[in-house]
Amino acid sequence: MNDAFQVVSSNTDSALRQYFRFVDLKWAGPATSIFGVPPAVRAGIELLVVQRTLDHTRLLSTVPDFPNIFAACHFLASASHRESVATTMDIVYDRLVTRFSSYFNDVTAFRGVLQLTGSAVSGSFALACILDDFSEDPRVGWGLEWQPRDMDIFVPTPTVSFDARDAPSIPASTPFEIMHAFLTCNGYEKYGTRATYADGMPEDAVRRVFRYRRTGTSHLVDVVESVTSSILDMILRFPSTIVMNMITAHHIFVMYPQWTVRRMALPGPTLDGIIRAKYQSRGFVFVEGNNDIGVPCGLTCPALARNVARRGSTLLAPYTEIGKGAVPQEIPLWQVWKSSVPCTNSLCNLASTGIPYFDNAV
Ligand SMILES: [Zn+2]
Repeated sequence: MNDAFQVVSSNTDSALRQYFRFVDLKWAGPATSIFGVPPAVRAGIELLVVQRTLDHTRLLSTVPDFPNIFAACHFLASASHRESVATTMDIVYDRLVTRFSSYFNDVTAFRGVLQLTGSAVSGSFALACILDDFSEDPRVGWGLEWQPRDMDIFVPTPTVSFDARDAPSIPASTPFEIMHAFLTCNGYEKYGTRATYADGMPEDAVRRVFRYRRTGTSHLVDVVESVTSSILDMILRFPSTIVMNMITAHHIFVMYPQWTVRRMALPGPTLDGIIRAKYQSRGFVFVEGNNDIGVPCGLTCPALARNVARRGSTLLAPYTEIGKGAVPQEIPLWQVWKSSVPCTNSLCNLASTGIPYFDNAV
């Protein structure tokens, strides 16, 4: 591991804490002598990324037998028993580490980079992680109709860059540059520049995309930079709800949980035939209307206004102790969205109110 991305551990008060320490590669190399070292970087940016009580023992008998991460997150979103929550978070965390570990030397350092830059894993890889069948040996397969081909990491464009906050005259590191440096340290090489992100994202939602390949492997990573300071703005532009999910440093976020868990998708106006066929071949069903479901829509309503704070309209689950008490920086509290599929259900209990609100929740 390159010195620019360090993980430091400490054991105190019977708790394990791991800190991610970032030193900008630019300043660690020869450039130092040209620009000098800005104070904030010289001191090192340090983030707490792991906090675990060492005497915590898993009480597997207190949690259900989860079929996948989605089910575990659903449990986490409403569970309150301390040991059950800790055990379930461990289950999710361990599965993610298993899935990420062949991509990075140190998954804790990767999570540190996600936290530092406000980035997230999304797209097909995140979807596969969330629906990954626990009964399948992760060394063999995913228990899905497909294997995710590459990992997509979504990074924001910062309004104020990290270094510039402390030293405005010094060129700044953007999340994109930090992610580039991290991948380089993990044996990745640029594998071509693409003008657009392949999964049907409208061009004007994406500032740039770099594709990387890990030397000696078939592992591909796409780094996709938003045109705004919020990656949620970009993820909302996906042409289908099925990939509107995020894995952040501490949380898993599913924007259309009632549909995603059923492997159903609401198409957006920009969904083209190729992307539609791609997900259909993976076993997903696109829904153009809901006039024949025979019951009130409740939270499944495609016209439901969804928001991270609106209980049940989305699924937000922490998978670390640090995430438990924190609202993720990547998901603005004020942001509200709904699908572009109209509700055609005559029994809808939301349609008559005009703007559906979750107090109609079932
Ligand atoms: Zn409805």
